[in-house]
Amino acid sequence: MQDQRKAIAVLTSGGDASGMNMAIRAVTRSALALGWAVYGVSEGYAGLIAPPEDGKIRRLTARDVGGILGLGGTVLGSARCKDFHDASVRARGIANLAALGVDALVVIGGNGSQAGAHALHEQGLSVIGLASTIDNDLEGTDITLGADTAANVAVDAVDKLRVTSSSHRRASIVEVMGRSCGYLALTVGLATGAEAIVLPETDLGPDEVAQRIASAYDRGKHHAIVIVAEGARYDAAALATILERDHRERVRFDMRVTVLGHIQRGGTPTVFDRLLGARFGAHAIECLERGDNGVLVGLRGNELVTTPLADVIGKQKPLALELVELAQTLAQ
Ligand code: ATP
Repeated sequence: MQDQRKAIAVLTSGGDASGMNMAIRAVTRSALALGWAVYGVSEGYAGLIAPPEDGKIRRLTARDVGGILGLGGTVLGSARCKDFHDASVRARGIANLAALGVDALVVIGGNGSQAGAHALHEQGLSVIGLASTIDNDLEGTDITLGADTAANVAVDAVDKLRVTSSSHRRASIVEVMGRSCGYLALTVGLATGAEAIVLPETDLGPDEVAQRIASAYDRGKHHAIVIVAEGARYDAAALATILERDHRERVRFDMRVTVLGHIQRGGTPTVFDRLLGARFGAHAIECLERGDNGVLVGLRGNELVTTPLADVIGKQKPLALELVELAQTLAQ
C-alpha cells in the first residue's frame, strides 16, 4: 500500500564521489514510486541548516534526476560544515525538515558525514546513511560508493606515467588520495605493478623504497613506479627529496613526482559504481519503508547489508594487508 504522507530528503556530504548521482536518482525515484515526496538538500549539512529563504531544500521530481547517472560529482553539491558538530545547529536542520513535513533523511557520504547522520538520529530524526567516499575507509561495507571510479582514474594516470617514465628511464613517485587510509594507494599500486607502495598502515621507509627502485634498475627495468598514499609519513615530494639527498647513487633512475590530487574525484562513474549507487539508493528506501533507520547501507560480498550508525562511526576499516605482500611478490 502506498504511504501518501511520507516525505523524505536526500543530501550528499563530505568529499564528492562518483556514483553519488546514481544514488540520488535511485533514492528519488524509488521513493517517488511509493508515492512519497522527495526533497533534495543542496551543499550537504550547510544547506540543511541554512535559513529556509536561501532555498537550499527543494522538491525533486523524477525529471530533476534525469540525465545525471553518467556524471561524476554530485548534482546536489557537497560541503564541509564545521558548525554541524553543534547540537543546537543540527536542531535547526531538523526544524527545517519538519517545516516541510519531511520525516526522514538519506545521507550519502563518508566517515564524517555518517557521524553527522548518527548525531541527527540521536536527536530524533529518522536517518539512513549510504557509504560513499573515494577513501573506502568506512566500517560496515566492503566497498564504498566512488572508490572504484577513483581507483580507475588513478590507474589510468599511472599507466600513462609508466609509458613516459619508460621512454626516459625514470622513476615516478605518484601520490594518490585516501586520507589516513591506504586503500586507494594499495589498490592502484597492485593494479599497476608498482615497485613500492607507501601506506600509512605499513610505513615503508625511504631506505626500503630506494632498495626496491635500485633492484628494479638492476633487473634491467626501464622505469620504476612508487605509489604514495597521501596519509603516509612522507608525502611524495618529501620522499623524493630524501631519495635524491640520501640515496642518489643507489637509485640511479632520474625521478619525477606526480600528485594526482583532485583529478581522482572527477571520473565518469564506472559500471560498478553506477550499479552500487542504484542498489544503495533503492535499499535506503526499502529500509525506510519497513521502518528501519539509524543504519548505514553497505555491501558485504554481493549482499546489501545494514549496520547501526553507532557501530560505524569513529572507526576506520582495516586494510587487507595480505594484498601488500601480494603486490610486493608480483612486482619482482
Ligand atoms: P570524505 O571521506 O570523502 O572526506 P566525509 O564524510 O568523511 O567524506 P568529512 O569532512 O569528514 O567528510 O565530514 C563531512 C561533514 O560531516 C563535516 O563537514 C561536518 O559537517 C559533518 N561531521 C563530521 N563529523 C561530525 C560529527 N562528529 N558530528 C556532527 N557532524 C559531523
